[in-house]
Amino acid sequence: MPAYDYRCRTCDAPFEVRRSLTDDAPALCPAGHDDVGRVFTPVAVGGSAAPAAPAGGCCGGGCCG
Ligand SMILES: [Zn+2]
Repeated sequence: MPAYDYRCRTCDAPFEVRRSLTDDAPALCPAGHDDVGRVFTPVAVGGSAAPAAPAGGCCGGGCCG
């Protein structure tokens, strides 16, 4: 079951909730507040991202004109 990071807007406490992907019930902070927001932590990426498609057309310009 995936874990999600939340932060309470009432007491500013970060906490973690383990829940299923289909469970959309509101999360509660450890102190019971329901005014919480998801914290999206960036996922570490190994290596560099794939390069974007080269500019200049589908084949470099030879077949498009
Ligand atoms: Zn709280």
